[in-house]
Amino acid sequence: MQDEIVVEDQRMLKLVDPTARLERLWTGATWSEGPVWWKDGSVTWSDIPNNRMLRWHPVTGGSVFRQPSNHSNGHTLDREGRLISCEHSGRRISRTEADGTVVTVVDRYQGKRLNSPNDVVVKNDGTIWFTDPSYGILSDDEGVKADSEIGACHVYRFDPEKEELTIVADDFEKPNGLAFSPDESLLYVSDTGVSHLENGPHHIRVFDVVDGRTLVGSRVFAKIKPGASDGFRIDARGNVFTSAHDGIQIYAPDGVRLGKITVPEIVANCTFGGPDGNWLFIAASTSLYSIVLKTSGGKI
Ligand code: MG
Repeated sequence: MQDEIVVEDQRMLKLVDPTARLERLWTGATWSEGPVWWKDGSVTWSDIPNNRMLRWHPVTGGSVFRQPSNHSNGHTLDREGRLISCEHSGRRISRTEADGTVVTVVDRYQGKRLNSPNDVVVKNDGTIWFTDPSYGILSDDEGVKADSEIGACHVYRFDPEKEELTIVADDFEKPNGLAFSPDESLLYVSDTGVSHLENGPHHIRVFDVVDGRTLVGSRVFAKIKPGASDGFRIDARGNVFTSAHDGIQIYAPDGVRLGKITVPEIVANCTFGGPDGNWLFIAASTSLYSIVLKTSGGKI
């Protein structure tokens, strides 16, 4: 694979060595999303159309982690290291307990079923923030076709202690990936409305987080092309590593694109991992890839 690292701004050189090479760790999925890295060195991710979650381990290789998976999509770990998952056909956020049982965290807003939660992050205070577009109920391909009970696609904050679910942003077409800045003063949320709306949004927006619970000051951070930002992660210095159709695009905190890691398949999501947090794991269509960076992960 040639020209994997594209440098567009000299700041890119502090983040990725131009000679770094992408490695394909596993292939055989139909559509990969939602990688999460565990301290044992393994990665768990979703293969949504096949209704399964996969696992890759550096010694034992690839295996099926869970099937059926309720068409799970995005994942993260909570403050206790438990797996928090977005489920399309479960239409819920679930948590996998230490003994392997899967429990519902939240599945309704004011008595109405969620659409199909897509991506999730946990804030340092333990609250769970997630997006709820309609991709998992539009057809039977990645979930179960159904009408939206809520009738719109929102961004939510769930407080597990109070069991309180609130809408934090209600003006998205298709809210998708999300991540906090390292100090949690900012929340980034992508809108992939272009997938079903001609001239629809294909950008990442950023908000100021007030009192740890309210979003204000929405502005467009970056317009992503080709494709859109299905998911992204932010390194410890605040740089945004986002999926796009040509690979991973990297944006500085000021919104300037610094460069790209080109990937030979359409990328959905990525996550930081490795003992030093400087490996980037990339879920891209049929495969899981990794690359070593010169920077490391911040908030997941
Ligand atoms: Mg997504």
